[in-house]
Amino acid sequence: MTTIRTADETTGVDLLRDLIDGRVVLPDEDGWDLARQAWNLAADQRPVAVVFAETASDVAAVVDYARESGLRVSTQATGHFAGSLDGFEDTILLKTSRMRGLEVDPETRTARAEAGVLWEQVTVAAAEHGLAGLAGSSPDVGVVGYTLGGGLGWLARRHGLAANSVVAVELVTADGRLVRADRDTEPDLFWAVRGGGGSFGIVTAIEFALYPVAEVYAGVLFFPFERSAEVLNAWSEWVEDTPEEITSAGRLMQFPPIPDVPEPMRGRSFVLVEAAYMGSEAEGAELLRPLRELGPELDTFATIPAPELRFLHMDPPQPVPAAGDGMALAELTPEAVDALVAVAGPGSGSPLLSVELRQLGGAVAVERPEHGAVGHLDAGFALFGVGMALDPEMEAAVKVHAQTVKDALDPWAAGRGYFNFSDRPLDGQSLYPPATFLRLQEVKAVYDPEDLFRASHPIRPATA
Ligand SMILES: Cc1cc2nc3c(=O)[nH]c(=O)nc-3n(C[C@H](O)[C@H](O)[C@H](O)COP(=O)(O)OP(=O)(O)OC[C@H]3O[C@@H](n4cnc5c(N)ncnc54)[C@H](O)[C@@H]3O)c2cc1C
Repeated sequence: MTTIRTADETTGVDLLRDLIDGRVVLPDEDGWDLARQAWNLAADQRPVAVVFAETASDVAAVVDYARESGLRVSTQATGHFAGSLDGFEDTILLKTSRMRGLEVDPETRTARAEAGVLWEQVTVAAAEHGLAGLAGSSPDVGVVGYTLGGGLGWLARRHGLAANSVVAVELVTADGRLVRADRDTEPDLFWAVRGGGGSFGIVTAIEFALYPVAEVYAGVLFFPFERSAEVLNAWSEWVEDTPEEITSAGRLMQFPPIPDVPEPMRGRSFVLVEAAYMGSEAEGAELLRPLRELGPELDTFATIPAPELRFLHMDPPQPVPAAGDGMALAELTPEAVDALVAVAGPGSGSPLLSVELRQLGGAVAVERPEHGAVGHLDAGFALFGVGMALDPEMEAAVKVHAQTVKDALDPWAAGRGYFNFSDRPLDGQSLYPPATFLRLQEVKAVYDPEDLFRASHPIRPATA
């Protein structure tokens, strides 16, 4: 017989504090606003308590406590994806930011990262051995959250989604067990977490493959904003013949007039082509030639150490208030480019600072039997639009405009969106093919039948 408690009952909270090494913060206590804050400062997160876990046993204790108290648990490393959560009612927010242990094994070319490790830690540590993980564009995104949602980075067209380079996960399931899931042990759970997100348990550590990539030829071509249609059309033709060693993005960028933005770009707008090539400078320059011949205003391409890729996309280096959303496109025809430029290009009045199109294909398009729930992305491009949300009015305007962009491009939409680029809560039907969605719900019913875990893009348990 379990005791039902709520977190604001002193006895219950005292119990949790006694059970863990980490810190528990409750509403009205000192540090509450900082504790509940997400990387996305626009998120007003109001859970019943915030717990900063130190260890896997802390995580298990929180899961046991929540289950026995009739509460739920939501997990964050950074809060980059706070926009995709559907609320915090009766929920403990478990933060893993103190769980930063990282081991890199150059012999097996793998890394083991605890739940709070950020990509920057991995890229810097792996580079000491000439290795690289499948990081995304942003150095301070969490390895676990990014990977559970797929993980699309600059090496993706050569090495696929990060989820499919996972070797094992250690996680606490809803019954409080710490399990290790890999291809042979708990295979259904291992399949589900690789693309199905955080609905199945709280990952305490993740092991994944590293690749021998010491240097890349990478950079950005900046063109005047007025040339948006011309450049995006040229880029969309160019990507058709690029080898999988290149991953690129076409982007409409309106830099804000703030001191953090360097002088040549501050307050100006551009159409950009960003790319990373895993090969020699001479080959890379030859591949890039058709785009260079368009005459960019600024060209930053150079051979750089692989960890420098974390700066290529110019993501904000610190928490910001933001709102945005994304979609996947089957193709980018000239009509699609016109539709995009009309709503996000020059003269559109768009409040979106960035609308990017990531080139897919290559290894991202290949599904293998050993892959997880998101084995591949069946689309030509992944779009993400984002704007600043300094107040609720700005946030609403950005969200409305992100939807305007999606509506304008709807004729070219791929069947399903990309988990990590959908920054509002989505039902699994919009993200997975029917058979995959059903299997995810079945795995959820086995490992979390009472729906204890409140995750981004939640999967609900299948009902009998
Ligand atoms: C600036 C920026 C750049 C980005 N660039 C890319 C990119 O290049 N490619 C790409 O694919 N995505 C990208 N993303 C999206 C990013 O991958 C997702 O937002 C991802 O969820 C962030 O992980 P996090 O742990 O930092 O975020 P959090 O908000 O802390 O976590 C996100 C979700 O992951 C789950 N989760 C986190 N930790 C755990 C855990 N230990 N156990 C179980 N579930 C957990 C939870 O459901 C949580 O709600 C970007 C996002 C931003 C804001």
